[in-house]
Amino acid sequence: MWLRRIWNLYQLRRNLWKTPAELQKIQQKKLRAILRHAYDKVEFYHKRFRDAGIKPDDIKSIEDLPKLPITTKSDIKANFRNRKIVNPEVDLSRCHLVKTAGTSGEPMTIAYDERAEDFQKAVAVRCFREIGVGLRDKWAIITSPTRALARKDWFRKLNVLSPTFLSVFDPPSKYLPLLRKLKPDIIGGPSYSVWLLAKAVRENKAFEIKPKVVYGTSEPLNDKVREFINSSFGVEMFDVFGCVEVGRTAWECEAHKDYHMDVDAVAIEVVDMKGNEQVASEEKGRILYTSLYNYAMPLIRYDVHDMCTLSNDPCPCGRGLPMMKEIIGRTDDLLISPNGVVLPPGIWSISMRALQGIMQYRIIQKTKRKFVMEFVADQDFTSETPSEARKELERILGADAEVEVKVVEEMPKDKSGKLRSIISEVKNKVAT
Ligand SMILES: [Zn+2]
Repeated sequence: MWLRRIWNLYQLRRNLWKTPAELQKIQQKKLRAILRHAYDKVEFYHKRFRDAGIKPDDIKSIEDLPKLPITTKSDIKANFRNRKIVNPEVDLSRCHLVKTAGTSGEPMTIAYDERAEDFQKAVAVRCFREIGVGLRDKWAIITSPTRALARKDWFRKLNVLSPTFLSVFDPPSKYLPLLRKLKPDIIGGPSYSVWLLAKAVRENKAFEIKPKVVYGTSEPLNDKVREFINSSFGVEMFDVFGCVEVGRTAWECEAHKDYHMDVDAVAIEVVDMKGNEQVASEEKGRILYTSLYNYAMPLIRYDVHDMCTLSNDPCPCGRGLPMMKEIIGRTDDLLISPNGVVLPPGIWSISMRALQGIMQYRIIQKTKRKFVMEFVADQDFTSETPSEARKELERILGADAEVEVKVVEEMPKDKSGKLRSIISEVKNKVAT
């Protein structure tokens, strides 16, 4: 076990400096292996191959993937329930089951067995090492409280990379005293949570908090937010990108020019908005992920509801991992609780994934006090679901909030066809 973990990280770190052509070969080998596995073992994909009239050998590289249909969030939900998208040889009770509400408001579960989990962690550790996280650095992470309580990661048992966790639900004023004492070397979390912390640091003149590395996750950065964080901490922050479903997928190196893609862990396709066609470099499109290591629950051509452009330009740093240029963010708003706490969009996906019975949701702030949550029910819906949802919103928004919960048939999309899950209709929105 230990050998495997160390081997994973060793291999992954070596890959950083391979040429794009060498990395492409590694990726193709991994891609063919997982497609073969999905065809042989996983009923959902076996049927997809058969319906498309193809065999795993018909797909040799990323360019051939459009021969298979896209896997949607709804596919995953429906086929996790009946286990058709899970390798039947895997004991789910021994898997790490990760719940996600995503950012487009569709809660679902992803299973990782120990082997997949180890690899995913190694991919994350590789990125952190490259952005300058030292093994013995003091590290503060703003994250979901459940993650903080989760069992100890293997690398933490060695007393390396052991972070202090701060709850994403708490306003920065609550953990600022702790950070003043801790003086962390590393600060990371959802970008808007880091931004709120930077504001609190300035307002409270807590300048003894001087991390050497700051990184943002989950929420796309706009330039103003990035500038504010940089000047507050005197650093150049790193933007790291990924999702619960497939782990880390792309990250900035010290050159801060675009994002290196973890192509030895995930195959990233960018396709046009309507159909299935892969777009050229520098063209905007939808991201589809194919995880190259999760043999317990393969995700092939998974539509994560994010958009990006790819780049052919190499990075000046010399690492061979190819580049993603622009990540086009979701346009979720920041809501403000009636007692004035600014709520970063990331907290909602963390909060909603604990609830059963919700297929899709959106939360709208109508006025300073009035909030409406709309959701589409799924099979687990009971008469309790709306009141549980209301309780959860009241927990976050405070007792002064008036919360209305509505079950709807379908979730309306905005003009660009995207589902916005967090919307503020109040006049003075939070400026970032
Ligand atoms: Zn680079």
